[in-house]
Amino acid sequence: MTPVAGTTVGTWPLEEVVARLRSPGGYPSFAERVRAAGCCRRPVRLSGQVTATGPTSAPVVVFDTATLPDRVLLKACGTRRETLCPPCAAVYRADAFALVVAGLRGGKGIPDDITAHPAVLATFTAPSFGPVHRRRADGTCHPTGRRCPHGRALVCGRRHNDRDQLVGQPLCPDCYDYEGAVLFNAGVSELWRRTTIYALRELGRLIGMSVRQTERTLRLSYVKVVEFQRRGSVHVHAVVRVDHRGDEHGSPPTVSGELLAGALLAAARRVSAPLPGPASTARLAWGRQADVAVIGDNDDGRRRAAAYTAKYACKGSDADGLLDHRFRAGVPHQLELPAHLRALAETAWRLGDRPDLGHLRLHLWAHTCGHRGHFLTKSRRYSTTFGRLRADRQRWRIEQGHTEEGGDVRGSPVMGHWRFEGTGYRSTGDAWLAANIAEAERLGRRAAWEDRQWASATAPAPMLTSDGDA
Ligand SMILES: [Zn+2]
Ligand SMILES: [Zn+2]
Ligand SMILES: [Zn+2]
Repeated sequence: MTPVAGTTVGTWPLEEVVARLRSPGGYPSFAERVRAAGCCRRPVRLSGQVTATGPTSAPVVVFDTATLPDRVLLKACGTRRETLCPPCAAVYRADAFALVVAGLRGGKGIPDDITAHPAVLATFTAPSFGPVHRRRADGTCHPTGRRCPHGRALVCGRRHNDRDQLVGQPLCPDCYDYEGAVLFNAGVSELWRRTTIYALRELGRLIGMSVRQTERTLRLSYVKVVEFQRRGSVHVHAVVRVDHRGDEHGSPPTVSGELLAGALLAAARRVSAPLPGPASTARLAWGRQADVAVIGDNDDGRRRAAAYTAKYACKGSDADGLLDHRFRAGVPHQLELPAHLRALAETAWRLGDRPDLGHLRLHLWAHTCGHRGHFLTKSRRYSTTFGRLRADRQRWRIEQGHTEEGGDVRGSPVMGHWRFEGTGYRSTGDAWLAANIAEAERLGRRAAWEDRQWASATAPAPMLTSDGDA
């Protein structure tokens, strides 16, 4: 049995669990509602009704939460963050995968011959804001280094492993450029926007086109995901595809993936953006470490690139999810944060007070160390959207004869009337039961998957009969 965040499993909530088992409908109807909400860890509780109107009839109530346990409907929170709700994050990750893979292999309204369009997987990093503990390819950290103005030797002879909490922490916090780090996170979207413009022009130059000609005939479509590194700076992973402007999903341009990769690398080296703040003359630029790989034409290469990209879409700003929520009045003292992360968040909050940086609204983004907005973004013509994927799911449910809420509404227009009752489960006991239902579901899916693997592994291969008659 897996403990749930926020519950006291040490003293497990026996009385509340018993109360639930004895409530009307008991465990089975509670479990059914939990499963219908995708086993969400912190569902929204809604009360209300769904009405349907036939062609001639007056509205009829087809569903009423009064029939449900506690008279409420549980609705999945839908977060992308694994640390907040693993079951909802899994749905999000599947959607992110569907969205990325459709732009590479077709499907979801994108033609299959999109596979002929050259595409690359690019990773651009943040520059250094001061030496941090790290693990280089040879396993070392900082075997040599100078002494900093604070009298600290910027040297570390250790060999850190991946789980070492020191990785990403500065060798001298007083030397670390916290403001620079926050402003990079805040400006990374603008830097990316400029990179795509430069890369398109560079691509044109490589095939002998003028800037105007290139901008009139070609387009870079992309989906990009930001990933937080251990040092609290964002990385950008992006799938970039080259299309004809105006006929994005039609015939591919006669450009190779290698040329596209070269154009992106050249752009990443040269591009810069003004550092936010009017007084500043400094500019934002990518770090030296950049990587662009051509995505192969074969199906598996495209699928793997999509899986790699979708994986990052579910990560938060820190592994423990401490910074999943916005701050109301600065970084709370009681919040247990590693010193480096706290310094970044506090710097972001402090910069949020500066009038010349007002447009960055850093109080809203202090919990993400200055990074503003979405973790996954895509250009308009890349592929489908999250909204359309969710709408498809809802339509499929209705076609099966049920709304998400459970009413039978085949063929009739429906209307929901809802009231918000609260967030999360009503008791620790309910949360504890829900976590165990989620775990049982997960194990059930795992067993079904293993059964399928087993079945395919032992499927009888076509055999020759003994008399040679196949
Ligand atoms: Zn959830
Ligand atoms: Zn070190
Ligand atoms: Zn120092």
